Amino acid sequence: MAGFRTHIAVSSGLGVVYGAAAVQPLGFPSEAGLLAALLTAVGGMLPDIDSDTGVPMREMSHLTSVLVPLMLLPRLIPLDLTRETLLAVLLIAYVSVRFFMTYIFRRFTVHRGMFHSIPAMLIAGLAVYLAYGGPDRPLRWLLATGVMLGFLSHLLLDEIFAVDWRGLVPRLKPSAGSALKLYSRSYFATAFCYLLLGGLLYLTLLDHVHGAD
Ligand SMILES: [Zn+2]
Repeated sequence: MAGFRTHIAVSSGLGVVYGAAAVQPLGFPSEAGLLAALLTAVGGMLPDIDSDTGVPMREMSHLTSVLVPLMLLPRLIPLDLTRETLLAVLLIAYVSVRFFMTYIFRRFTVHRGMFHSIPAMLIAGLAVYLAYGGPDRPLRWLLATGVMLGFLSHLLLDEIFAVDWRGLVPRLKPSAGSALKLYSRSYFATAFCYLLLGGLLYLTLLDHVHGAD
């Protein structure tokens, strides 16, 4: 499997290309391009959030707990909350993501389980789309696609590293096929993953229907 640094290097490189393409030729503002590039880079680290030990898990739980409240901001600002309420909401979001999610991840996830899968990639993308909110749908899809692109690069890299290139004929290591997958051996994890994906798909559809009127 590819190391943390390889993942960051590849997804960051991909982010730069994606962010640049968003600005020219796609015509998004440069701040949007920058944000898309950063989300692509982060997306490349996301799947390894399920590894209990070491840098990826720690860094990612810090980063996610800061990013989630930030992504909620466009949804919170139109609510005209007082400054204190806004701060309280952001702090609660930070603390719950930081501690609750870390606990859940430690408790229920297996490394290379459903976090390394196609449905998980779609969940990450839809979550960004829904969390970002606001009327600018093309921008929201740009960011969602960025995360999914980074995520996909991670899965692809893990699969590439599962091929043993030494010797005359490349052979597959036992980890092959465990990253770019549609389901895992755990029925519970697989069912939960698809349930979550279904729910997010429904919310995304609602968002589009709601925005059409
Ligand atoms: Zn991985």
